[in-house]
Amino acid sequence: AYVASHDLQEPLRMVASFTQLLERKLGDKLDDQGKQYVQFAVDGATRMQQLINDLLTYSRAETQARDLTVIDGRVPVELALKNLAILVQEKGAEVEVGEIPSVVADQGQLTQVFQNLIANGIKFNRSAPPRVTVSARRKGGFVEFCIEDNGIGIDPQFADRIFVIFQRLNSRGEFGGTGIGLAVCKKIVERHGGKIWLEPQDSGSRFLFTIKGKP
Ligand code: ADP
Repeated sequence: AYVASHDLQEPLRMVASFTQLLERKLGDKLDDQGKQYVQFAVDGATRMQQLINDLLTYSRAETQARDLTVIDGRVPVELALKNLAILVQEKGAEVEVGEIPSVVADQGQLTQVFQNLIANGIKFNRSAPPRVTVSARRKGGFVEFCIEDNGIGIDPQFADRIFVIFQRLNSRGEFGGTGIGLAVCKKIVERHGGKIWLEPQDSGSRFLFTIKGKP
């Protein structure tokens, strides 16, 4: 996946930039239909660039993984929230974080997991204000994390499908995204020897995942 997506970037960059040039150069000479065709080509190329970037992100979850060490579990949550500060502010979201124990993990990757799950809880949400709760509890040798939101919820029949790369339940119109976030979370959690799943919920969504606790 890494080699394919990396090598696809260059020819695609050519397609994207030359269709944009064509649009600029022919702008006035084209009729409305011609303009629409060029616009479709530009949109398609731009979208494919986004998908290829996502494929690279997905592939890097393996190629750029670091060793697992004992870390304070609060740190990746705080880093994720720092990265999401603009989204939280724009949406007026409230994120509540409970006690988080230490875990054995790659801090950068765990940050990515929290970031994707918290961002989804805010994004797929029409409540005012959007609210996300992060909590954790020890369970055997593991720590079980729970990320809950008051958003639009997920039909339980799609509980597995949402973790597959590029699978999305909503049209692109209302909610942006390419369907990579949960696939990356699954890959990272499983590389850590844990599990991730969606728990049925009457309203909102509730994601759980496990990571080995500090021995
Ligand atoms: P993306 O966010 O880029 O669409 P994800 O892999 O993160 O991709 O999520 C896949 C799909 O699962 C989303 O498109 C959305 O339909 C659904 N989904 C994920 N998280 C939530 C959530 N917290 N509430 C409702 N739907 C969600």
